[in-house]
Formats: sequence, C-alpha cells, structure tokens
Amino acid sequence: MCGIVGILGNHEVAPILVEALRRLEYRGYDSAGIATLNEDGHLDRRRAVGKLVNLSDLLVREPLRGSAGIGHTRWATHGAPTEANAHPHRAGPVAVVHNGIIENYRALRAELAADGAEFATETDTETVALLTERHMAQGMGPVEAADATLRRLEGAFALLFLFEGAPDLMVAARRGSPLAIGWGEGEMFVGSDAIALAPMTDRITYLEEGDRAVVTRKGARIVDAEGRRANRPVRTIRAEAARIDKAGHKHFMSKEIAEQPRAIAAALDAWLSADGASLSLPDELDFAGVERVLLIGCGTAFYACLTAKYWFEQIAGLPAEVDIASEYRYREPPLGAGTLAVFVSQSGETADTLAALRHVAGRAARIVSVTNVAESSIAREADLDLQIHAGPEIGVASTKAFTCQLTVLLLMALRAAEARGALDRDALSDRLSALRALPAQITGALDIEAALQEAALRLAEARDVLFLGRGLMYPLALEGALKLKEISYIHAEAYASGELKHGPIALIDKTVPVVVMAPRDGIFDKTVSNMQEVMARGGQVLLITDAAGAEAAGDEVWRRIVVPTVHPMLTPILYAIPAQLLAYHTAVAKGTDVDQP
Ligand code: GLU
Repeated sequence: MCGIVGILGNHEVAPILVEALRRLEYRGYDSAGIATLNEDGHLDRRRAVGKLVNLSDLLVREPLRGSAGIGHTRWATHGAPTEANAHPHRAGPVAVVHNGIIENYRALRAELAADGAEFATETDTETVALLTERHMAQGMGPVEAADATLRRLEGAFALLFLFEGAPDLMVAARRGSPLAIGWGEGEMFVGSDAIALAPMTDRITYLEEGDRAVVTRKGARIVDAEGRRANRPVRTIRAEAARIDKAGHKHFMSKEIAEQPRAIAAALDAWLSADGASLSLPDELDFAGVERVLLIGCGTAFYACLTAKYWFEQIAGLPAEVDIASEYRYREPPLGAGTLAVFVSQSGETADTLAALRHVAGRAARIVSVTNVAESSIAREADLDLQIHAGPEIGVASTKAFTCQLTVLLLMALRAAEARGALDRDALSDRLSALRALPAQITGALDIEAALQEAALRLAEARDVLFLGRGLMYPLALEGALKLKEISYIHAEAYASGELKHGPIALIDKTVPVVVMAPRDGIFDKTVSNMQEVMARGGQVLLITDAAGAEAAGDEVWRRIVVPTVHPMLTPILYAIPAQLLAYHTAVAKGTDVDQP
C-alpha cells in the first residue's frame, strides 16, 4: 500500500502536495516525491529516500514551482527504496505515480528494451511512463496515450499521469487500488483516500473498479472499464471521518488505543437495535443452509478471524475454519456449497485478502466482508459488507480496528446462534446486555496503563518475549506477540499454553519474560500449572488477569495486571487493551518509531 495525490490548483501546489502526502504517510513511507508543471508547462520533480521530512527539506533547498502536480509516498514492491526508484517516474513528457503492482512489467520491459528504451529504475512503474511516452512519440495525445498504456497493463493499480505542456490535465485510473477525486472551486484533486484531500475539499467521488478519469480544473470526466461514460456520485465526507490529529497524544497509536470505548460503542450502535435489546444486522446475513463459516484475513485481521472461530463454534455450534489470505488461494481447499465466507480487512484493500475473495467468488454460498472503509475494493466485491465503524486508523499497528473487528464478528456469531436456535431469547438478551456494558469496561481496562508502563521497562530490555494463552486467549496471545514485534522489534512468540511442554519450554530462563493472559475461567488452573513450569525455570511471569485470577495465581508471579471482570465471551476484546498498551509502552521505552515502524 502507498499513497498518491494530484492537484490542479490555483496556487503553488508543492507545499499542498507535501501536506497531502503527510496525511497519506500511514499507507507507506520508504521514500517520497512530487512532480509539478511550472508556468511554462515545464515538468520537474524532486524525490527523497526515507521519511517525508527529507523531501520537504529538499524542497526548501530546491523548490518546485507550479500550480499543477502529483505526489507519491512509496512502499517499495519492485526495486529497493532508493531515490532512483522513488516516484514520480518520468519518461520524456510523462510523469506517473502508482500504487500497486504491474504484474506483466517484465514482458513490457522486454518489449520496451527491444525498442531501444533505457531504464533508469528497477520498478514496475517505470514501464507505465515509458509506454506512454512511446505512444505519444507515435503521435497520440496525452489522454489517448494514457488509455493505450492502460489497456496493456495487468495487475492491481491506481495510477495518476501528468504531462509536460498540459498544465490543465491529469489522467487517473483505478484497477484494484483505491482512488478518490476531490472537487474544489476551480481546482480539482485526486488522492488515494478522502483523508488526503480533507484539507482541500470534502466533496469526493470514489472511482469504481476499472474506471478512469480525465481531470481538468473544471471537473472530471469518468468512464468505466468498458469505456462508457460513468456518473459516479459526489459525496460529502463527514469532517470527523477525515480528521487526523493526535488529540494531545504523543502518538496516533496511543490515541487510537484510548478511542476504543467510543469506537466499540459506535460498532454496537450500528449493529444493535436502538434499545440495544436485539441484533440489527442486515437480513442478507442469513445463516439458513450455512454449514460452515470460512474466515480469512492477514496479520491482526487473521487473529480476529481466529478468535471468531471460537465464537462461531462455541456460541453458535457452527463449524468454522480460518485461513491466512496468502495461503488460502494457493492451497486450493475444497469449498462446500454451504460455506459462508468472511473476509476481514481494516482498509478493505489488503491485496492478499482481495485475491482470496476473488478466488472464492461464485463458489461460496455468500461472501461477507468486515471492513473499515465502505468504498474499498473488498467491501464492494463482497455480497454484503459489515462496517466496523472504527474511524480512520493512522497508526500502522492496528488497535481499535482489531477490537471493532472482534465486536462485529462476535455480533455475527450471535446472529448465527440465534438463527440456529443455539441461544434462546433470554440467553441472547444476557449476552447483548454484557456487550452493551463493554465500552465502559474497556474504559476501566485503560486505567491500568501506568502498571503496564512500568512492566514495559523490563520488557524493553528483553531480547525474546513469550506470550501464552488458552482458548479465546490463544489468538490474543498471538496478537500480543505480533504487536510487540511490529513496533518494538523485540522477538516475540505466542503459544497455546498447553503447547509449552511440547518444545517451547526449552527457551525459558530468567532472561525471557513470559506474558500470560488468563481470566479466571474453567481452564485457569491449567494455566496456573503452565506458569509454575515457567517459574520453575526462572522465567518471569507477567500475568494479565481479573481480580479472581490475581488472587488465585500464587505469590511467585513477577507482575500481576488486573483488568475488569467481563462476560467470558468478551475477554478477547477486553484483554486486547493490555496487550496493546504493553507493546506501545515497550516501544516508547525503546525509543522506536511507534506510528511508523
Ligand atoms: N510497485 C511500485 C513500486 O515498487 C509501487 C509501490 C507502491 O504502491 O508504493 O515502486
């Protein structure tokens, strides 16, 4: 994922492009660049490796003039993150920024090389610029040349073209990666998402799959994949949906952790009836004839899926399977006709998850997506999309999106239980009232921050950390370990507690802190036995538990972190808070770049 932006404006665009890129930096950030057209229609560009600040410093030393320009913040897929490989890519009169992958770039490169083209980069994107240049050299105008290029491309991309000598023109195209057009007064904008364009305009048109747009300062002319004129709606974006500030927090991650009571309440509001007493999920979420649920995601979303497997099985008695998106497609597992396939992705653009969805399309009974972006590719391609209502997540390490995904997946499992008669009216009503109490309990869990901050100082010194959990706490242990690895660069592993004796115990000594997540439930005593095994080898146990668990745990435990007692089905959502805070404060103690690991 990366971010692209383009502006046909009335003022100097370089600073505005950089500001827009800053708002897109959460999508990728190994290098960045902009290209502008000056008053004479002359094309020029600046690019810099590393964080965006390097590009803004360069622009101070070597400014770029002009009121038309495009910009890119890169997350390299083809070619190292060097200045030469940074976008915009240029060939003669054409500059291009690209989000995604041109899958047939090798063939195109070979063809261009045979034609005498010279390559200045290792990227797939450069082929787009070179092809377009070739088309123009053959006599085509800019729009026609870009069209001819687009017809040659395979893969997933959002592309934006700017042409020397054409200061009132951009060509934008969407296939697989998101792209939004922003409408101003005598100015037009293009960006990867509405967040990038928010300071300039709140009037947004989302391009649909296969669309391309010819943009001038007067407006945009959009055609669909078949080349027919397409009328896409202009929507007004709610201000809070596009606001990105840290609201007094040091990092977006800490702000987003703190936002969870509100975010979860928003997800519940959306999918419970007004009085909170019944589910208000759409009727299309129909479990009649469903024999099995298949849940697919990547990274944190995969752990949300793994948690949901326990819920579908335990609460609804419905068999559930979970797969990592990138594995599923190539494994070619048989797919029964009674399968409900659920795809979970915060952005709704995760390439592996989208590819897995396309692989399943037409073969599953129904495809449901659980995303945070209603206009995203995954949301559009699913039969039914359930929004998680987390609001924009800017920190790269997912926090509130995870707990909101869990909330929506739990509601789905409850709906399945209701439909299958696995829960009677009273039992469902008990569970819904427990859910309604959850946001307040999450607020309670946030109160333990100081205790975790102190424990994090010890974790920050460790080279390896183990996370243990049983049952519903096992996926959360995996998520806790992932979070710690991702932002603090400490090696962390998670195991189902019962697996400890089958090998991992060999790793334990006094240098390896062991984080155990265990509410006092029916399997708590087994977890206590596992902790004894750890402590017998000198391991330091950090136990995250409830009041009853803290009392029953014994004295040898190194640290006890006590969180509110919740309904057992809600423990994965509540215990996510200490897992996130622990990772956050460990990273802060180590001085790593929390929001952009
Ligand atoms: N494939 C292109 C590159 O590696 C674009 C990557 C991106 O989306 O940032 O430069």
